[in-house]
Amino acid sequence: MAVDYKEWYDKHFHELTGQGIWLRGGEMNTLESEQFDKRNYRILITRLSTYKDTSVSFTHKLLYQIATANNDLYADFAYLPPELDVDIFARDGVPWFLGTNSKMPGTSFDMIAISNSIIEEIMNMATFLKRSNFPVKKSERIHNNEYPLVILGGANALYTSILHNENTPVDGIFVGEEPELIEQLFSIANEAKKRGATKEAILEELEGVSGFFQPDKVKKTSKFVSTSISEKQLLKNAPIFFAEEQLGTGNLQISEGCPCFCSFCAESWGRKPYREVKPEVLKQAALKMKASMGLETMELYSFNFNMHSNFYTILRDMSHLFANVGLKSQRFDTIAQDPELIKFLHVAGKASITCGLEGISQRLRKYLHKSLVDSTLRNSISILLRAPLRELKIFLIATGFETEEDYTEYKEFLTFINETLALSGRRPRIIFSMTPLVRFPYTPLEDKDAPDPSICREIILQTERLTRCRGFEFRDSTEVSNYFFSQIIVRATDPLVMDSLFSAMEISKFIFYREIPPYVVEQMAKDLKYRSLEVEQVMKGAEKETIENHVCTINVNDSFMGRQSEAVDDFVDRGYCLGDVDKEGTCKACGACESQEMKDSMTALRDERKLSLESLKKVIKDRQNIFNTSFKIEVPYKMRGIPRKSIGIAIARAIMLSYPQLTVPFHKYESSFVNSHYFTDWIHGDDIITLSFLTSSKENFDSIVNQENFIDTINSRLDGWCMVKGLHSDDVKSLQMQIESEYPFDISPYFKLTGLKYTARKGGENQYICDFTKESLKKKVIDYCAYTKSETGATVLITPRPKFVFNEFLSCSFDVPTEAHYSRISAKIVIKD
Ligand code: SF4
Ligand code: SF4
Repeated sequence: MAVDYKEWYDKHFHELTGQGIWLRGGEMNTLESEQFDKRNYRILITRLSTYKDTSVSFTHKLLYQIATANNDLYADFAYLPPELDVDIFARDGVPWFLGTNSKMPGTSFDMIAISNSIIEEIMNMATFLKRSNFPVKKSERIHNNEYPLVILGGANALYTSILHNENTPVDGIFVGEEPELIEQLFSIANEAKKRGATKEAILEELEGVSGFFQPDKVKKTSKFVSTSISEKQLLKNAPIFFAEEQLGTGNLQISEGCPCFCSFCAESWGRKPYREVKPEVLKQAALKMKASMGLETMELYSFNFNMHSNFYTILRDMSHLFANVGLKSQRFDTIAQDPELIKFLHVAGKASITCGLEGISQRLRKYLHKSLVDSTLRNSISILLRAPLRELKIFLIATGFETEEDYTEYKEFLTFINETLALSGRRPRIIFSMTPLVRFPYTPLEDKDAPDPSICREIILQTERLTRCRGFEFRDSTEVSNYFFSQIIVRATDPLVMDSLFSAMEISKFIFYREIPPYVVEQMAKDLKYRSLEVEQVMKGAEKETIENHVCTINVNDSFMGRQSEAVDDFVDRGYCLGDVDKEGTCKACGACESQEMKDSMTALRDERKLSLESLKKVIKDRQNIFNTSFKIEVPYKMRGIPRKSIGIAIARAIMLSYPQLTVPFHKYESSFVNSHYFTDWIHGDDIITLSFLTSSKENFDSIVNQENFIDTINSRLDGWCMVKGLHSDDVKSLQMQIESEYPFDISPYFKLTGLKYTARKGGENQYICDFTKESLKKKVIDYCAYTKSETGATVLITPRPKFVFNEFLSCSFDVPTEAHYSRISAKIVIKD
């Protein structure tokens, strides 16, 4: 049995970034670590990015939900250690493949399931394996049972040709999103383990699943995309990460794929056809998710939310169920088609809009096949700028061949925005951001050469100058170094490119987090040269033969792809197929729809909006009519450090799971007494948590909370997150704080800082009680203080008053080796009734 790292973590958590919360494990809706020994097959879901970066990913949570639905499977998470933790891991020999829940190393698992959603994460592949004491090459692991299978999937799996060679670091690659196929992969591996099958035999069996292949002996496969969205694709009881900004927020996928044919949009080409989830299904899923994840906000996930034919029904339903509804990006043309949309979004509280303009001129938008003509764009901008927006974000793409004519057109566009703003009398924040165009495989841009990063840099700088000159904000959203590596990674076919990449990473000792410094680019160029490859060569468009020999087929047929590729060269935009309320669409014969029926429903006239602005206003007004309820709780020592909102969410979850009739009425987490007074998550003991509910449910709510067994019922669902002691309606009149520390203690600096005068008298052996002067008591900092010193530390009892600052007290009174050690001091509150 391999050694676990629980003891190591307990001893060193304070040294890690954010006091090691990212590695703590035990998030809500995750399996207890004891299940590690009880379940047959163990999967370590791994991201080559950090916990913080991954907490926003909903596919990551979905993968866990899918795996753990099978009672034979244990799943755990592993992440890239944050930058400052890398040396600590190295110092103590801790592997990067480390289950955050179980604290078991990668070698104790049966499968490492790497979810690769950002291209540049591939740069960390070899380092991750080495730092986990795994041989980098599949060939060096495959016959050694000490190492689990290493399988790569995720949104970027289709673009990993760089790994398709004999020296590949991964054992298998799965391309696809269908939950049923992911279930099948896990279940085949699980059953094969029971039979004692070898890793090689398991991989061969996995090749039977659509989209799975071995990168060292590629057998052609096809990426399966179901014609409807499975309910399994919706989150229900997914893990809730310890990320303050994510707590209480769920993601609801309302559609899959996109009907448009933007030439640059790899995700759209690989996920056709466009499919929608019905509002009734979404409502039921949202209710389940709200209860099991303690949600107050629902983010609607789709490529373009307002393309959903039932968007208004969904908006109304979600506004009825949640305190906040989040909506991400949309297309300019759909705003022009439906000018009323902005009013609805405003009523729903959305004051910030994000739209993709992409090309800076009509010519470039045609190259990018954005299907957005100038008149529609201007119409849409006028609608947006007349609305009470706070912020408008506009995405641009640097294609690499912008000309003076394109810049002139862009200047005219910016002037048009300024004139429209002047007429509307509004001044929303307008932010442009630009990213270089990465030409992906499986898109019409696959055969097009990619420009040198220096060309993209110049274009971005020029666009920035023009934008800023006209009074708008500008951000370059991706460094050109990131573009360079992304482009090389997605298009590499020569095995030497992978060798160069891993060697450049090793020599430059670089780990990818977000930005890539120029010296890594230089090292990569040097390494390529050493292997007789030129940068220009690896940035070149794919040859016909490469395209014909793709390892995987997607739903779009080759002839359509070929036609689109020619259209790009000719700057011709053929539009997309979806119908709108005024005009039926036309099938462009991309091959993604299986039947005429599907094509017909795609191109059919869309229903008129049935929801009136007034009725949405009413739904939202009803939602704002709320009352607060407070609970007195006790937070156990082991829950110190996690965001206090997690505890509030746990209580809301327990209430909704126990009393489903309170699911719609639950509004949101409001506050924690301890957090709002002491600004830390590191105090345990008593607290007052306040939640809000709809006033319309007050009677029902009162009858439930007055039931004799209400508190016991809630506590039975809290799984140790906290203990609810009862409802709390008064102000907190008095409380006591007990602090225990193993570090040297001296009270006088704190009293000096706060100007408190006192005399310390002996209360017992090594115990001192401070008697404050009347003047000092009037300062309302501390009423009572007694402390007992031991050889190594102290126990302090205080009665804090409103002006007491917890962190100030700690930093003045305890002599800790580093600031991080404050998290090793135990502080407990007892609220007196
Ligand atoms: S509209 Fe274009 S860029 Fe947006 S998701 Fe669809 S294909 Fe991609
Ligand atoms: S087959 Fe026709 S209707 Fe279906 S997605 Fe392709 S172009 Fe649209």
